[in-house]
Amino acid sequence: MKEDFYNILGVSKGASASEIKKAYRKKAIEFHPDKNPGDSKAEEKFKQAAEAYEVLSNADKKAKYDRFGHQAFEGGGGSGFGGFGGGGMNMDDIFSQFGDIFGGGGFGGFGGGRRAQTKGSNLRIRVKLTLEEIANGVEKKIKVKRKKVAKGTTYKTCGTCNGSGQVTRIQNTILGRMQTSAPCNSCSGSGQTIDKKPSNADVHGMLQTEETVSIKIPAGVLEGMQLKVSGKGNEAPGNSISGDLLVAIEELPHATLQREGDNLHHDLYISFSDAVLGTSKEIDTVNGKVRIKIEQGVQSGKILRLRNKGIPSINNYGSGDLLVHINVWTPKTLNKEQKEFFKKNV
Ligand SMILES: [Zn+2]
Repeated sequence: MKEDFYNILGVSKGASASEIKKAYRKKAIEFHPDKNPGDSKAEEKFKQAAEAYEVLSNADKKAKYDRFGHQAFEGGGGSGFGGFGGGGMNMDDIFSQFGDIFGGGGFGGFGGGRRAQTKGSNLRIRVKLTLEEIANGVEKKIKVKRKKVAKGTTYKTCGTCNGSGQVTRIQNTILGRMQTSAPCNSCSGSGQTIDKKPSNADVHGMLQTEETVSIKIPAGVLEGMQLKVSGKGNEAPGNSISGDLLVAIEELPHATLQREGDNLHHDLYISFSDAVLGTSKEIDTVNGKVRIKIEQGVQSGKILRLRNKGIPSINNYGSGDLLVHINVWTPKTLNKEQKEFFKKNV
């Protein structure tokens, strides 16, 4: 039989939101794993309290619980606690909940064994592409300034944290004496400090370098899109992984073509006589010039569609079209002879 949530927190059914919060704080501190290392009973109680608080701190869930009890959250077959995947809350859920309970800071995760590998920072660059490059895909070689571990730099295990990257300390807080873990100051949480480094490297054994990075840009990218080149950002000291290079796409305007999604538009101006008699015109496409035929008697505003002459879809849905908009240029001034001609013939 599952224990009553109000009992777990030690509050009455009529408890206010702030009383519930206060009660949970107390339980969380009492049974916090950092305070009770290796005590599985305490951990169980810690999880129960978190589960109870998760429900009772949420007006909606609380109302359901008050009406139906634990059944309110039992899924088909009664396989456990709805919303927590049956197995109760995991520790990450619980620690993420602490943000609003303790106002950030204070609690860490468990002391030790939790150190994430440090990662270098990401670098951001912009790449300007012509419409032709976008249409066909392109490989760009770009010089990138990135921090790398200098040749000759060696690291050793940090003596302050013994390589764990975390230090545990007793802190006096308004909630009482708390054991907390924080990233180690001596090694910035990496668990390693400098052993040897060349004289030109910085205090972390790093050097600012310039490297040519080859970036494959697929056909059909859009302005503002961001591509990621993994591992080509800054390196970080010690046993770490490199950050990423984030490439923002910028599209250069084209002299005669306008892009709209995967379609391209071209405004073609033809003379009145070309419209009357028909003609052929050479226009730009993203793969060189093509000659198109204009039928005699074409009207201004007609659109000629050149299939698949647009931009290939980034999602491989084929290519867009090139739409040629016909504009008949009506002469603004006519000489006497021309005037006579139009008066007689139109
Ligand atoms: Zn350290």
